[in-house]
Amino acid sequence: MSVSRRGFLGTAIAASITAHLSAQESNPSPSSSEHQHQTDSNAHSASGKKPIMICAGNGVKYIDEAFAFLKAGGDTLDAALRVVKGPEDDPNDDSVGYGGLPNEEGIVELDACCMHGPTRRAGSVGGVRNIKNVSLVSKAVMEHTGHVMLVGEGAERFAVALGFPRENLLTERSRKIWLLWKEAHSLDDWWGPGLADPHWTAPATPTNSPQSQLWDERRQQLEQHAALIGIEPEFRQAAIRRVLVPPTGTIHCSALNEKGEMSGCTTTSGLAFKLPGRCGDSPIIGAGCYTDQDVGSAGATGSGEENIKVAGAHTIVENMRHGMSPLDAGMDALKRIVRNYNNDTNKLKFMDMTYYVLRKDGAYAGVSLWEGYSDGEKHKIVVHDGMKRSETTVALFKGSSHEFPPFPVAMPKELTEDSVYVK
Ligand code: ASP
Repeated sequence: MSVSRRGFLGTAIAASITAHLSAQESNPSPSSSEHQHQTDSNAHSASGKKPIMICAGNGVKYIDEAFAFLKAGGDTLDAALRVVKGPEDDPNDDSVGYGGLPNEEGIVELDACCMHGPTRRAGSVGGVRNIKNVSLVSKAVMEHTGHVMLVGEGAERFAVALGFPRENLLTERSRKIWLLWKEAHSLDDWWGPGLADPHWTAPATPTNSPQSQLWDERRQQLEQHAALIGIEPEFRQAAIRRVLVPPTGTIHCSALNEKGEMSGCTTTSGLAFKLPGRCGDSPIIGAGCYTDQDVGSAGATGSGEENIKVAGAHTIVENMRHGMSPLDAGMDALKRIVRNYNNDTNKLKFMDMTYYVLRKDGAYAGVSLWEGYSDGEKHKIVVHDGMKRSETTVALFKGSSHEFPPFPVAMPKELTEDSVYVK
């Protein structure tokens, strides 16, 4: 997962950003000890060419079984798909597949893509409704059509033709969060309880209240609404958080086997409450995922629009083709995002990006724009090469990304804690 749990920047962030950026630019080689550690360990695995898989944090429960499959001679793409199918099936992971948060009309729309290194093929689907395992549908596009990408209704009908079951992907929990979002943003329409409702209260206006009071009133209204909608008390803060800061979330996985074969895949429900039809980076071959059998494989989670503009996964693989280490290749892609905003940290603080990078010799890196979330939790990648571990990414900027849309006052602690949901 990526920017689903965003946080406020510390006060010294702007200064450290500038310092860190200039250090990166003047010295492209690793500077932090963590950075050095990843490079050293990568050099070790590079000589062994053992099987290895890397994925986003929400793949941690599924990677053991997938790695055993890979080690037993299973195909690299099938191994990677075994990891990402886990969150797709999990109703409690509201960033992917079944249970994903819906678009602004309350309909879940999923994106996915995959690349199979050994046969140099790719498949992709975007904006798919009613089909849970879109990662597998992207593989079916690759195997059963002469196309690479199908979208929307056509992709859904193709999936059904291939035997994928049509099902309602909107869980009750996600529907209620969407309804809360809808009603909370409806001062200008007819959603939400009307004047005749006994619970109706006039919205506070800036003329009669200070900002902090407005904020408190808004939260109280959201809590009342959440109760009326029937959101269980233990989920209310998490639901309110999702309404105030529409989350994103995704899973990517790349795999390498002993023969040196590689594949990658990425799947997501995308940005919560997005416009219908919006596709992020996840279904875009070269942005959300890219694998070249001769070089390596890369994938992304985070601000999809930004990643599309730098063709992140392809950029990283091309960087490695030209000799960069996985770490430097990923950092360079992040710097391209920064360059697109002329280093303007007033904007960059509202986005985040994590890249998962695997070279064909087994060297790997996890890099991110920011270190992590406002509650102090760091961005991590999961690695399995016989030993499963979670590793903190190397961040381009110190500190955490900022809530978007911005909050007028500091976010209360209970809203930054998200333990009731899968992380
Ligand atoms: N990249 C995904 C998208 O933009 C979201 C995410 O990774 O969090 O749809």
